[in-house]
Amino acid sequence: MDHIANHPATADMQAADAAHHLHPFTDTAGINETGARIITSGKGVMLRDSEGAEILDAMAGLWCVNIGYGRNELADVASRQMRELPYYNTFFQTSHPPVIALAEKIAALTPGDLNRTFFSCGGSDANDTNIRLVRHYWASLGKPSKTHIIARQNGYHGSAMGSASLGGMAAMHAQGGLPIPGISHIAQPYWYAEGGELSPEEFGLQAARALADEIERLGEDNVAAFIAEPVQGAGGVIVPPSTYWPEIQRICDAHEILLIADEVITGFGRTGAWFGSETYGIRPDIMTIAKGLSSGYQPIGGSVLSEKVAAVFAEKAGEFNHGYTYSGHPVAAAVALENLRILDEEGIVDTVATDTGPYLAKRWAELGAHPLVGEARISGMMAALELSPDAAGRKPFEEGGVAGLICRDHCFASNLIMRHVGDKMIISPPLVISKAEIDIVIERAHKALDLTMADLKVQGLMR
Ligand SMILES: *Cc1c(COP(=O)(O)O)cnc(C)c1O
Repeated sequence: MDHIANHPATADMQAADAAHHLHPFTDTAGINETGARIITSGKGVMLRDSEGAEILDAMAGLWCVNIGYGRNELADVASRQMRELPYYNTFFQTSHPPVIALAEKIAALTPGDLNRTFFSCGGSDANDTNIRLVRHYWASLGKPSKTHIIARQNGYHGSAMGSASLGGMAAMHAQGGLPIPGISHIAQPYWYAEGGELSPEEFGLQAARALADEIERLGEDNVAAFIAEPVQGAGGVIVPPSTYWPEIQRICDAHEILLIADEVITGFGRTGAWFGSETYGIRPDIMTIAKGLSSGYQPIGGSVLSEKVAAVFAEKAGEFNHGYTYSGHPVAAAVALENLRILDEEGIVDTVATDTGPYLAKRWAELGAHPLVGEARISGMMAALELSPDAAGRKPFEEGGVAGLICRDHCFASNLIMRHVGDKMIISPPLVISKAEIDIVIERAHKALDLTMADLKVQGLMR
């Protein structure tokens, strides 16, 4: 990671960034005032910034760098593929070797009979594909009224018009005329904040039964699908109670609707199995994948179809009038395939399941005992802390998000990237994180919690 001499001075880059770059999910006035932190290289779980600071990335970028930074094998494969065939499309009855091999590998890795993939460039467009795909599926079966899609409050499915409408993020719906029609949102299985006096198990059943109520309200003849993340990621690592997914699966089985598992985060080892559907006993008809599919080394995603859904496209649906120029891009496909080879052959998912995952769980639970923490929860290698002024009472702060932001800044200042969602602190480290590196995460997070609590007391936000 020795590239410091090769870039302009940090202040010059910050000025150019402020002048010419509109950042996603960023307050432009704010970033222009403080200047962006500029990341220049990465190796394993560590990043380096333009000032030479070494930062432990406990978010794996945006939940995606599952095999860690700096794996030369992926760079070599990309270089080879670019020389051989940098681009060709998969429209109009053509294909190419990398996309064929990748589709076959995904079919082998995914559970059940999820055997056929429609490729996209990421998760947002894959979920937009899903909207059109499930509607065309039902229309092809002679049921054109089945168009409505049920999703969840505080779910995240991407940022395009369709996928952000599937998402249940109020702040996103507030801008740009969302949600589009034909989508509704039921309660999330967020026991800590919304479970009240119910036990987690009781609350999980109640949250799941909201799906049955919504199907009833809309009429089954009008409903195409239900979409959900096995574990909500961007919503704040909401790990559902154990009763939730079995009841959702039962309701889906009892009704003629498709179940879409959005595994963009939970796929490719994140929860300690290859897919969250395995961890939570879900049998999806369609699975959305992206992020860990290429460990973020190339932009690629997809919708993986079960045989039931694929058969309709093979037999009845005619031409699917839908596709992206870069669907199944050869370089992205080759890199994803190499990423899956590494995940597979190095036993990385197994290590998470049996070794580093349990170790992180044990150490994460220790943070749960901190007086600022109301709950510590974890699923494999994704975890959250609920900050609370009254930890025993699961009480929220009066002004939400202040404590989380303070804590995030303390983490950042101590070279730990941990993200805040309101007053939830979340991590999703590279799956290759070692126990020694986990110890560093815990130590820096603990220090950040101490400093945050001290600040909150000074500011009168906590007694
Ligand atoms: C990140 C994410 C998406 C969107 O993926 P992009 O590649 O950013 O378009 C969709 N669903 C889930 C669950 C995600 O976490």
